Amino acid sequence: MRLPYIELDNPMAKDLDIGLIGIPWDGGTTNKPGARLGPRAARDASTSTRNTNRASGINPFALCNCADMGDSPVNPLDIIQCLDDIARFYSQINDVGITPLSIGGDHLVSLPILRALAKDRGPLGMVHFDAHSDMWDSYFGGSKFSHGTGFRRAIEEGLLDPKRVVQIGLRGALYQDAPDTWGEEQGVTVIDMDLFRTMGVPAVIDKICQVVQGGEPTSTSAVTGNGVYISFDIDVLDPAFVPGTGTPEIGGLTSYEGQQLIRGLRKLKVPIVGGDVVELAPMFDQTCNSSLVTVTMMYEILCVMAENMNTLKSKKKH
Ligand code: MN
Ligand code: MN
Repeated sequence: MRLPYIELDNPMAKDLDIGLIGIPWDGGTTNKPGARLGPRAARDASTSTRNTNRASGINPFALCNCADMGDSPVNPLDIIQCLDDIARFYSQINDVGITPLSIGGDHLVSLPILRALAKDRGPLGMVHFDAHSDMWDSYFGGSKFSHGTGFRRAIEEGLLDPKRVVQIGLRGALYQDAPDTWGEEQGVTVIDMDLFRTMGVPAVIDKICQVVQGGEPTSTSAVTGNGVYISFDIDVLDPAFVPGTGTPEIGGLTSYEGQQLIRGLRKLKVPIVGGDVVELAPMFDQTCNSSLVTVTMMYEILCVMAENMNTLKSKKKH
């Protein structure tokens, strides 16, 4: 986004409100790999990002002090080590009071980010856009850490409050006859693609706000809650718009519906403590349009995040 490049050890980092961070790692991928190359493709496509959002009038770069903070450390050879490395890096980001907006990487990168963000806050709410639940127990005979299991681990580890988690866009075939209901059994709200089509965008936005704010639009937990994380797996969008991803599922959201849903998060009255956009695999992206869509969704989240930070007065004093 042509922002200044300010790494964590730069003295100017302490003045940042929002840090854009790459996580060039896809060690949790079960299908087509390549999301490790997402950050560099996103940075390339993001050079055409402009300032002011026509729909909302928000200019995030005027509202908040933003920078590209470079990439998180990663380890392509050791999943557990890598999760620790990412969590340590995001703990340092969090300790300086910077709200992270990340570009993956496969979706397992959200787990160490949540470990860092929930450490002092307690269980977070989450708005999770995805074709997949990412709440399977294990893959390949017992492997617990993959991009299809990360949010189950996050709930088990107490990083997410399942009653304040909502998933939008789920679809596609299952591995077995039994439906994929583990998340709902924990209290997660699921708006799958069929339900999304039935409800329509405005009703879905209202439902999202109700869930992550703890049931009531004006409830006490909305004010005192631990904050909400936004996680956007680009495979929630139809592969007609985003072919450049490792596990595409047909029948998804249009890119415009994705924008509308993110813009609807302006209504949230809980602090947005972080966000990510994940699963961009640029080698399947022959037109570069997947990268453009990905960075545009990242920009839409940045707009909402910047306004949220100003409205709830959680921004630093400059
Ligand atoms: Mn995912
Ligand atoms: Mn997915």
